[in-house]
Parts: sequence; C-alpha cells; structure tokens
Amino acid sequence: MTEIKRIAVLGAGLMGHGIAQVAAQVGKYEVNLRDIEQRFVDGGMNMMRESLQRFVKKGQLTEADMNAVLARIHPMLDLKEAVSNADLVIEAVPENVELKKAMFHEVDTCAPAHTIIASNTSSVSITELASATKCPEKVCGMHFFNPPQLMKLVEVIRGARTSDETIQTVLDTAHRMDKETVLVKKDSPGFIVNRILIPALNEAVAIYWEGIADRDDIDKAIKLGLNWPMGPLMLLDYIGSDTTLAIADVLTKELDPKFHPTTGLKQMAKAQLLGRKTGKGFYDWPQK
Ligand code: NAD
Repeated sequence: MTEIKRIAVLGAGLMGHGIAQVAAQVGKYEVNLRDIEQRFVDGGMNMMRESLQRFVKKGQLTEADMNAVLARIHPMLDLKEAVSNADLVIEAVPENVELKKAMFHEVDTCAPAHTIIASNTSSVSITELASATKCPEKVCGMHFFNPPQLMKLVEVIRGARTSDETIQTVLDTAHRMDKETVLVKKDSPGFIVNRILIPALNEAVAIYWEGIADRDDIDKAIKLGLNWPMGPLMLLDYIGSDTTLAIADVLTKELDPKFHPTTGLKQMAKAQLLGRKTGKGFYDWPQK
C-alpha cells in the first residue's frame, strides 16, 4: 500500500487552504500548496495563518506548534514542482469539469507512478476525471466540507475503476487527519450530502427571491425548525452561490431536471454576490 508522506493540494482557495492546513496540522503531513498566481497562494496562506492564530488564542495550539505547521506547508506556483514528490494529490480548483479534467491530465503526466489523485469536487463525476488519466485505478473523490479545519466528514468516492487499495489509502489518510469518513460506493452526482443539501438551498433562495419570507426568518425557520446550526442562506454564503449553482447545474444535467437552479441562485452568482468570498451575498462579510 502507498505510504503517504507528502500531499500536494491544488488550489489555495476556500477549500484548498483548509485542506492543506488540516493535512499539515492534524495529519502532520508535508504539504505542497499550489495556485496559479502569487496573490492566490498568499491569500490562502493568510487565511491559514488567521485560522491557526484562532487555535492559538483558544489554547488548542502553542505558538511553536503553529510555526511547525506552517513550516510543513510549502506554497508554490509550479504544478510540476508541486506534484513531482507527492504521494497524494488533492485537487481543489474551481468546480468546472473542463478545468478539472485538464488538471488531472497534467498531474498524470508529471506525478510519480504511485501517486493517488483525489478530487475535492462537489459534483463532477470521478469516473470522468479519471478518464483524463492513464491510471483510473489511482483516482477517487475525497470530498471535504467547509470549513475543512472544523467539519468532521469526508466523503470518499469510488469511481468506476478505482482500486480497493486507493480507497483504503485515502480512507486511512482522512482518518489520520482525524476525520470521519463515509464511502460512496458508486460515482453518482452530488454523492450523499449535496444530493440532499443543494435542493434545500435552492428552495431557500426561491422563498427569498419570491418575497415569501425575509432572509432572517428563512434562516431562523430552518435553524429552529430543523435544528440546523446555521440557516440555509448563511450556509449558502459560506459555500458560495457560484459553487452552489455549479453543483445544481450538474445535478440537473446528470440526474434529473427537478434539480434545476432557481432564478435567484443564478442572479446571485451572476452579480458576484458569492458570499464570504466576495464580501457580499445574502449577508455582508467585511473583508480584512
Ligand atoms: P475557490 O474559488 O475558493 O478556490 C479555487 C482556487 O483554485 C482559486 O484560488 C483559484 O485561483 C485556484 N485555481 C484555479 N485554477 C487552478 C489551477 N489550474 N491550479 C491550481 N489552482 C487553481 O473554490 P472553493 O470553494 O475552494 O472550491 C474548490 C473545489 O472544492 C470545488 O470543486 C468545489 O466544488 C469544492 N468544494 C467546495 C466547497 C465549498 O463550500 N466552497 C465544499 C466542498 C467542496
């Protein structure tokens, strides 16, 4: 079985920086963190420092531990450099099937033969991503939740040709990061969580957009009525309306027209009201 010592995380955005942090902080892995421009890499490293500082403030991490975590993370721009010594690659680039396939093809050409390539995609087919490589048995889904530093679950997804060894290695890696895992035995759009969640978020936007209830009442209703820790519109701001729209589009195309994104969701994404990412969504998110 492949021993995972170094992980390459592709994409230093909302999810990528968090996955890199958990891998270095909890899993104690060496991590190469790659994005396409210096400002994105810097942005990811800054978010990570802020998160680590919060752990220090709460007394859950010492300053020395924080510095040790940061020393295990190697920010970079060059893809070949990022994957050439990695045992596991976790792809966390935007939810766009063509972009992801191109990434998988490129990683496949630069990574060592033993390297496992996992995607953090929320909805793109793992089998389709695997088809862009010469080693579909080494490809699987490794779906973290937002924020990866705090959310316990990782869905591990088997593509049509994923080997048992790949699945076991990725499950073990997630456990070393102190995550709970569930196995998605068949590659199916939205896996488990998003197939249930995205229609709920879509409907919350429709209720808001149609003027049926105000933002705060929609969120209050679901928090108190269903015991969610936060309302659906706030959750949408954490996930991003662009990402939510992309997942709804895939579910609609691949599963059933009933998943079609509402006008409100499309408008929010078009207007760049993406939530935390852009500073404004259903709520205001002051940018630091
Ligand atoms: P994001 O837009 O915050 O981050 C994506 C990052 O990828 C950006 O920094 C971008 O510059 C970078 N990027 C673009 N092309 C790249 C390339 N070729 N190589 C390396 N980096 C590249 O997006 P996100 O919210 O972090 O989502 C990333 C993935 O995680 C998506 O597949 C999404 O579906 C999935 N996901 C998102 C959430 C969520 O709540 N946002 C939850 C689970 C999974």
